Amino acid sequence: MKSIRTRIAPSPTGDDLHIGNVYTALINYIFAKQNKGKFIVRIEDTDRTRLVKGSEERILKSLRWFGLDPDESPEVGGPYSPYRQSERLELYKKYALELVKQGHAYYCFCTPQRLEQMRKEQQSKGLPPMYDGLCKQLSTKNPASPAGRQELRTKNEKYVIRLNVPNVGTTQFTDIIRGKISFENKLIDDQVLLKSDGFPTYHLAVVVDDYLMKISHVIRAEEWISSTPKHILIYQFLGWPLPIFAHGPILRNPDRSKLSKRKNPVWASWYREQGFLPEAILNYLALMGWSPPASGTDGSEIFTLDEMMKHFKLEDIKPVGPAFDLKKLEWMNGEYIRKTDNPKLMAQILDFYKEKKLPERIVQKTIPLIKERIKKLSDYLPLTEFFFNRPAKYEVDLSPKSPQLSQLAQSLNSVENWTADNIGKNMQELVAKKGYKSSDFFMAVRIAITGKKISPPLNESMEILGKEEVITRLKSFFI
Ligand code: GLU
Repeated sequence: MKSIRTRIAPSPTGDDLHIGNVYTALINYIFAKQNKGKFIVRIEDTDRTRLVKGSEERILKSLRWFGLDPDESPEVGGPYSPYRQSERLELYKKYALELVKQGHAYYCFCTPQRLEQMRKEQQSKGLPPMYDGLCKQLSTKNPASPAGRQELRTKNEKYVIRLNVPNVGTTQFTDIIRGKISFENKLIDDQVLLKSDGFPTYHLAVVVDDYLMKISHVIRAEEWISSTPKHILIYQFLGWPLPIFAHGPILRNPDRSKLSKRKNPVWASWYREQGFLPEAILNYLALMGWSPPASGTDGSEIFTLDEMMKHFKLEDIKPVGPAFDLKKLEWMNGEYIRKTDNPKLMAQILDFYKEKKLPERIVQKTIPLIKERIKKLSDYLPLTEFFFNRPAKYEVDLSPKSPQLSQLAQSLNSVENWTADNIGKNMQELVAKKGYKSSDFFMAVRIAITGKKISPPLNESMEILGKEEVITRLKSFFI
């Protein structure tokens, strides 16, 4: 059987890995691993005008964070580096020239001004923007080239190489997820393959690389469907076997619009900085186009990567995914936090707040108090800040309560064994003895200790803070 090789091919043209690319990476990774195949990362950095500095490093860092590690590197030994298209320029040029030689591609000397003018005219006539084929005559199969254009060539004017798309017939393929897809050739543009700067376009580079890297399954988002017939023509012209194509759903907002950086948090680093756990994000993304089968699973929406690997079938992905709902992701992240054992959660919290250097001893003690209440790691500190610092402000003015707080400080002073139980008992006795209104009294204590009306359980919090600190906080309201 042919070995399974999949890839993701992110372009370093954004801040980081797009969450949609994380989804694509996930299904490529799972599919490769399920079939004992290889998962490859290729950086598509041929659009030099859109490169963003540091983007490649951030993409690789995010993949590592998700645990979606590539299986192959162009260099053996040394630190990992991905395939990079900018390091493979000679290859693309070679195949572009090969296509020209066979008459399947041609030189085009049209100036940007002419192309712009052409586009405008097409637009005004309501036609789709397409190259009008003026330079097609230079193709070796069409030696009758207009003299003027032939002259441009001999003068070595700037040129691009374009795909010579036949204007009859259809180009079709069978997509694992979507079935048969067919395009009329006359509607396919004579795509630029090699730009005047010598760099290939995406269309040429993707085909050359997928072929040379022996990619068996091209699994990517639906936005690339309309590019696929161009790719297929290149494969056919070069006499190469086609890979299997699968176009998954793109992520959409609840209003069905495309997830875009103008409206949504789309970069993986945003999710990391918000304290989402990578396992929870992958679990949530898995559900974007697929759900675990009823048989052989408990039908739960929460599953590990290993479980997904057992049950996932590429052909079961639905072509249109449900909406990407941040609220649901938050809920799921909370579920993952609750499933995490306390020592691991402590390590995650310490790491998340590493700049703050939180004392491990306190973090460890607070975890049982907050584990049920947080959805993201970033929810931790707003809930527990008062353990590390005295409240800087209080949500309620406590001056009318200072006599009660003064009584409480005296009463708590007598607690010998400072445990949550004993603290609770002591406070209840005081309330009963003095006839305080219980809810008012406890609200005042909560505010005095934590600064807030809502906090983790009070007795336990007081135990962790220690007797001296609790009494000091109470005293600040009457001394
Ligand atoms: N460079 C393309 C991207 O940024 C890759 C598309 C493909 O997978 O063919 O997503």
